[in-house]
Amino acid sequence: MIPMVDLKEQFDEIKEEVMRLTETVLGSTRYVLGPHVTELEEKIADYTGTSYGIGVASGTDALYLSLRASGVGKDDEVITTPFTFFATVEAILYCGARPVFVDIDPRTFNIDPSRIESAVTERTKAIVPVHLYGYPCNMDEIKKIADDRGLIIVEDAAQAFGADINGKKAGSYGQAGCFSFYPSKNLGCYGDGGMIVTSDPAFVSEVRTLRNHGSSSTYVHETIGVNSRLDEIQAAILLVKLKKIDDYNDKRRNNASIYTDLLSGDLKCPSEEDGYRHVYHQYTIRCPERNSMQERLNEGGISSVVYYPIPMHLQKAVKFLGYKAGDFPEAEKAAKEVLSLPMYPELKKDAIEKVCSVIKQSSC
Ligand SMILES: *Cc1c(COP(=O)(O)O)cnc(C)c1O
Repeated sequence: MIPMVDLKEQFDEIKEEVMRLTETVLGSTRYVLGPHVTELEEKIADYTGTSYGIGVASGTDALYLSLRASGVGKDDEVITTPFTFFATVEAILYCGARPVFVDIDPRTFNIDPSRIESAVTERTKAIVPVHLYGYPCNMDEIKKIADDRGLIIVEDAAQAFGADINGKKAGSYGQAGCFSFYPSKNLGCYGDGGMIVTSDPAFVSEVRTLRNHGSSSTYVHETIGVNSRLDEIQAAILLVKLKKIDDYNDKRRNNASIYTDLLSGDLKCPSEEDGYRHVYHQYTIRCPERNSMQERLNEGGISSVVYYPIPMHLQKAVKFLGYKAGDFPEAEKAAKEVLSLPMYPELKKDAIEKVCSVIKQSSC
C-alpha cells in the first residue's frame, strides 16, 4: 500500500542527532519550558520574520490562546472558513465567541476575501484565515479589510509552515500566527506541540501568562489560564527538523510538480498564483466522481483521504449556531469533490507515477 504519509525514512535519517539530543534532555532533568524551547522560539520567530515565538502544547492551544490574548470573549464574533479542521472552530468557541463562516474561493479552498466584508458586524472582533493544505490565503486583501474595520487577524498556519507570499511567511501577517507540530504536519515533532509567533511584546507577555496558569511569577495568578507548555524533548527534535524544513518543503513541491505534470490534463490540480509559495501539506485534487475514484485507488493499493468530508457549519457539534445545508455552497461542493493523495518529502517518483496511472484509468 502506498501510504498518505510515511515518517520512518525521515526518522532514520535524523535518528542519531535526535537520540543524542533526547539523551541530553533526559539527563538534564529539565523537561518542560527549558533552553531548547527558548532556542526553538527564537529560531522560529527568526524563520518566520517575526519578533517572538511562544511554545505551547498544540496547534489548537496556539489558536485558543492567541484569540484569548487578543481579547476575544463572550458575545464577540470571529470570522473564519467553513472548510477547515474542526480545531479552528473549537478554539473560537473555547473563548465563548461565535464563529461566523464565510464561503471559500473554489480555486484555492481558502476563505474568499471578497465575501468577508458583508459578514462583518459591530460584534466582529477577529478574522481567522486558514492556509489550507499549505497554500497561503490572500493576506493583502484580508489585511486591508481587517485594518479598515479594526479587526484582529489570527492566522491558522497549522498546515503552512514555510509557505509564503513574495517571501513573507504565512503566520507573519496577523497579530499572531499559529503552528501545529503534530507529527504529520510539515514541521512535526514526535508527540503534540504548537507555537504562536508575533511581533507584539504586550501580546507575548499575555500569552506567556495564559499558557502557564495565568501566572507571570510563581504562585501569583493574575488571571485564569491553562496548562499549555511545550516540552524540551519535542523542542530538541524540532530544532533538528527546523534545519531541514526548507529541504523537506522543496521535496514536497517537487513531488507536487510531478503529480501536476501527469494529472493536469485530466483533472483539477492545485496551482499557485504569482508570488505564492505552496508547501503542499496536502496535494488535493478535485473530482466530481470522488468516491468511486477513491475506491479504485484503494483497490490499486493506494491510500487517499478526504480532507474534509463535512464542512464546519454542518457539524453536529455546532448545530446550535443555526446554519443549514446550502449556506456555503462552495465549501459544500468542495467537501464532496476533494481528494488528497499520498504526499511527504520522501515519497518516490515511481510511487507518484503509480498513483497517477490508476487515476488516469478512472474517469473524473
Ligand atoms: C492540525 C490542525 C490544527 C490543530 O493542531 P493540533 O496541534 O492538532 O492541535 C488546527 N488547524 C488546522 C487547519 C490543522 O490542520
